[in-house]
Order: sequence, then structure tokens, then C-alpha cells
Amino acid sequence: MSAAALALPDFLPGTVWLVGAGPGDPGLLTLLARHALDQADVVVYDALVAPDILKLARPGARLDYAGKRGGKPSPRQPDISLKLVRLARDGLRVLRLKGGDPMVFGRGGEEALALAAAGVPYRIVPGVTAGIGGLAYAGIPVTHRDTNSAVTFVTGHNASGEVPDGLDWPAVARGAPVLVFYMALKHLAVIRQRLIGAGRSPTEPAAIVSAACTPAQQVVETTLERCVGDAEDAKLDPPAIFVVGEVVRMRAALDWLGGKPAFSGDPLGRPPRQQAG
Ligand code: SAH
Repeated sequence: MSAAALALPDFLPGTVWLVGAGPGDPGLLTLLARHALDQADVVVYDALVAPDILKLARPGARLDYAGKRGGKPSPRQPDISLKLVRLARDGLRVLRLKGGDPMVFGRGGEEALALAAAGVPYRIVPGVTAGIGGLAYAGIPVTHRDTNSAVTFVTGHNASGEVPDGLDWPAVARGAPVLVFYMALKHLAVIRQRLIGAGRSPTEPAAIVSAACTPAQQVVETTLERCVGDAEDAKLDPPAIFVVGEVVRMRAALDWLGGKPAFSGDPLGRPPRQQAG
């Protein structure tokens, strides 16, 4: 069935859709995300939303950047929430577009709470989170029957950018055979030290997937003890996912992407809309 034949909900004026854009490849957008891009009056987007995804916005839609800009402080979260409320009250269809899934380390909950408190109708559209999509594009299963029946998603940052203090590291280390860290690159040395200190084997396989699902995707296979040096040698930049666990070994057989571009884009780089017309 084509997307056009599906009865998707109307994007009503005066409402906000909190939408996950997935980890980068526009082909990983949901039909609801694409539908929202087709109809939005204003798109309030974060730094992690791929430029090729923004090109899919309705011509004439206003694109409003709400992410970090070259070292300058990012807009305060309450200001972003307030902006969403104000735009909705102006009668616009407001698309709040976030990288990955809006409710996974994405402050989607905070924004939804602000909308609920203000009485602004909203819809939440999940997206493919980087910890799952990024591993798939690296050929690493998040779970595999022989290796893990549990997986833990962890953030390497707290609100002030430090390794979370409140985290029970021994419990994290023991809790699941596979650990997937977001925002981990900056604190890789501390994370390694805490995990080894809590009993994870230094030789355990690990991988770093940077710019996952984009043309710049890089995957470094390493071990817990070697991860910091290997990340430095490969000159990896954020955003990156760090995964620890036996599932990493499966990449040897499952690197389906190989050297191919991790992207459903136009090789000539034309905006998708011009291709269609
Ligand atoms: N809501 C997002 C996560 C936001 S937190 C999601 O569901 O994916 C930001 C962190 O997400 C980054 O520091 C990085 O760890 C991860 N991330 C997001 N996009 C990524 C990508 N394309 N490649 C690798 N990591 C990514």
C-alpha cells in the first residue's frame, strides 16, 4: 500500500507533533514523520536532524533551528518549550523534529509536559533511535539469542555534561550483557574505568559507531581496554554510539553495508522534491 493510500491523522493547526527523525538516513523516517514534514507550517529542529531530512519539508515551511551552534550555549530548554506553545497558539502546525527518537535521551518528555501543562494538543511520533539504527547499520544485533536476553541503554552525560553520578555502575555492569551508550565519546575513559572497575572484562568486544546512518558513518571495532586509544587513532567525532558486548563479534559476518553509503539520498545531492517533479 502506498503512503498516500494510508489514512494518516490530520496535522491540525494549533497542534504540535513531537517527531523522531531517526539517526540520519532519510529512508528511516516513519510515514508519520514524512506526513508531518509535508504539512508543517514550522519545523523546530535540533542539531542531529540530517540536512537531507529538512529538505523534505513542505516548500514555504519555516525552518527554526533550536540546537547548539558552534560552541555557543544552546537555547534553554524552557525557552524551546515556550516557543512551541507560542507557535501553536499562533495557530500553526508545529513540527518539533528531533534526531532519533524524541523520548530517548531527547528531552521529548520535558517538552510534552510543557505542552500538556499549557493545554496545547500534541502527538508523539517515535523514530528509530541511534542506539538501535546505528547498530543495525554497523551489522551489530542489539540482541541475539545466544548472547543476550537483555540490553541496557545508558547516557554518558548528565544535564551538566558530566558522567552521570547517580548511575549505579556496578548494577549497570552486571545488569545486561550488552550496554549501549549515548553521548559517550567525551567520557569514554571514565566509562571504561567504571565498567572495568565494576567487573566487566577489559578484553570484552566493543564498538564505536559515529555519524551512524549518514554518508560519514564510521565503525571502529575495539575492546573495552583499547577503546579510548582506538577512538583517538580513528579521529572519531560525535555523534557516536558506544556498544559493549559479545554481539559486536557478529559484525564480522553481518557487515552488510561494507563500504556502501549509509544513506537513501540522491547521488547528485538534489533536493528530493526536485526529483519527484
Ligand atoms: N534522541 C536521540 C538521542 C539524542 S542524545 C536518539 O534517539 O537517537 C545524542 C546522542 O545520540 C549522541 O551523543 C550520540 O550518542 C547519539 N546519536 C544520535 N544520532 C547519532 C548518529 N547518527 N550516529 C551516532 N550516534 C548518534
